[in-house]
Amino acid sequence: MKCGIVGLPNVGKSTLFNCLSNAKAQSANFPFCTIEPNVGVVNVPDPRLEKLAELVKPQRVVPATVEIVDIAGLVKGASKGEGLGNQFLGNIRETHAILHVLRCFDDPNIIHVDGSVDPVRDKEVIDIELQLKDLETIEKRISRIEKAAKTGDKTAAKELAVTTQIRNLLLEGKNARMFVPQNEDETEIVKGLQLLTAKPVLYVCNVDEQSAATGNEWVEKIREIAKTENSGVLLLAAKIESEIAELESYEERRLFLEELGLEEPGVNRLIRAAYELLNLQTFFTAGEKEVRAWTIRKGDTAPKAAGVIHSDFEKGFIRAEVISFEDYIRYGSEAAVREAGKLRIEGKEYVVKDGDIMHFRFNV
Ligand code: GDP
Repeated sequence: MKCGIVGLPNVGKSTLFNCLSNAKAQSANFPFCTIEPNVGVVNVPDPRLEKLAELVKPQRVVPATVEIVDIAGLVKGASKGEGLGNQFLGNIRETHAILHVLRCFDDPNIIHVDGSVDPVRDKEVIDIELQLKDLETIEKRISRIEKAAKTGDKTAAKELAVTTQIRNLLLEGKNARMFVPQNEDETEIVKGLQLLTAKPVLYVCNVDEQSAATGNEWVEKIREIAKTENSGVLLLAAKIESEIAELESYEERRLFLEELGLEEPGVNRLIRAAYELLNLQTFFTAGEKEVRAWTIRKGDTAPKAAGVIHSDFEKGFIRAEVISFEDYIRYGSEAAVREAGKLRIEGKEYVVKDGDIMHFRFNV
C-alpha cells in the first residue's frame, strides 16, 4: 500500500519529500529508507507505541511504516503524453492514495509554471489531466462491453451502467471518486477500472511560515472545494519545516515549532494522514524482546492480523488474546490486565480494533 505525492512543478513536492527523509531527526528511531530516489518507507509516528515501550521496556521498538512515492513531473498535457506524461500517470496508477500538493505560498523568487499563484487553478489543471486519462480508460472499457451488455449479458450490463455513470461525471469535470457505489458488485466494478481519480486524495496546502498554524485565503478556498468532494486538507510549511528538521538538538526543533504555533512537525501529521487515507490501522504486539506496531486494513479480522506477522499464524489460527490500548495503559502491564479480567479471548470472526494489543494462539 503506498501513497503518491503529486502536484505541478515548483509547488514544493521535493521539499516535502525531503522533509519526510529528514523526519528521522524528529525522534531517535526514525529510519527513512529510500528504495529508489523517489520512493521512501517512512515510520508512522505513534505516541501509543512510545507509551507501550515505556511500560514494557523492550529490547527493540518497531514502528509501523508507510510507503510514499514522489511523482514529479506532472504537467498540463500529461494525458496527451506531454513531458513524460504517460509514465507519470502510470506511476500514479500504482499508488493507492494521492497526496496532492498545492502551492499556497507567495514567493516572487520561485517561478510558477503558470505565472501566478493560484492553487484552485492548479488543482484543476492536475484534476483535468487525471480525468482525461480516466475518460480514455472508461471509453475503452465501454466499447469493449457495450455489445455484450446490449445482447443480454447481465454482468456486462451492470458494468455498463456503472461505467456510463462515471463517464458522465468525468465529462462534467468531476472526479470518479464522486461516484458512490450502491452495492458490493458496483464497488468491485469501480476497483477493476483502476481509475486515477477514484483514488482517495488529501490536499496538502504548502504555506509560508507565517501561515503554518493558521492557513491563509488560498487554504480557505481549497478547504471549501475539498468539502464538496469529501476530501481532507492538511496545512504544511514545507520549506521552514525542512530547515527545522536539519537542526541538531531536539530542544531547538521544539522551540522553532512552538514559534510557528505547532506542537509537532507537520510531516508527522502528514504521515499519519497518509496512513489513514490508505485505510490502514495498527495493532501492537508487546513482549520483552520487542514492542511493535503492525499494519492492517480497517475491518481486518484477527486471523488476517495474525497473517501479517507470519502466514503460518493465519493458517493455524486458533484464537487471539486481546487487550485494548486503554486497558493496557490503565493497568500498566499484561499481568495486571489479566488479573483485572480485562484480557479478552477472541475468535476467527473478531474484527481488530485500532490500537489492540494482541497475542495469537495457533497450530503449527
Ligand atoms: P517541486 O517541483 O514541486 O518538487 O518543488 P520543490 O520542492 O523543488 O520547490 C521549488 C522551490 O520552491 C524550491 O526552491 C523550494 O525551496 C521552494 N519552496 C518550497 N516550499 C516552499 C515554501 O513553503 N515557501 C517558500 N517560500 N518556498 C518554498
